[in-house]
Amino acid sequence: MLPWVVRRTRLPLLSLRCVDCGSESATTGKGRFRVNANGKQLHVWLLVRCVSCNRTIKLAVHERAPVSSFDPAELDRYHANDPALVAATLLDPLFARRNRFALDWAGAWRLDAPPASPVEAWPVRVEVVFEDPVPVRPERLIAQGLGLSRNEVLRRIKCDIPLRRTTSAGFTFTVMAGD
Ligand SMILES: [Zn+2]
Repeated sequence: MLPWVVRRTRLPLLSLRCVDCGSESATTGKGRFRVNANGKQLHVWLLVRCVSCNRTIKLAVHERAPVSSFDPAELDRYHANDPALVAATLLDPLFARRNRFALDWAGAWRLDAPPASPVEAWPVRVEVVFEDPVPVRPERLIAQGLGLSRNEVLRRIKCDIPLRRTTSAGFTFTVMAGD
């Protein structure tokens, strides 16, 4: 079985409309949180920037949450703008839904696909693992990984999931010998 890995190369952009300039793209940049205490309540925002006019947009991570509900180590990570926490927050589908943005993965990921060894006997089995939830169309990913045309993919690939439906969950497929 050949292992293929889909992983991000940077944080994806956010498709999010700027109220100032109408641009639809924002970036986390290096990743910054803002934490505000109000009595016994805490607000936490992830700060992102419009890529065109630089306006800062605040996206709520926690709103009016009791201070006592936070693990002190977690609070430290917000204060330190912990990059892993920035990534986990940005990639959390609930956070995206609440703040009404979609992720723009264009140019933010890569496929690591080791070439099949020439002595490998057909058919070849490949397992695709997602290290990050990048939405891909299996048909396009396989065409790219094997250097095949889309027609060849449809002819030579056996796969237990629909090849044209976008997914970010791992799957396996089999490449049949060409003619
Ligand atoms: Zn703007």
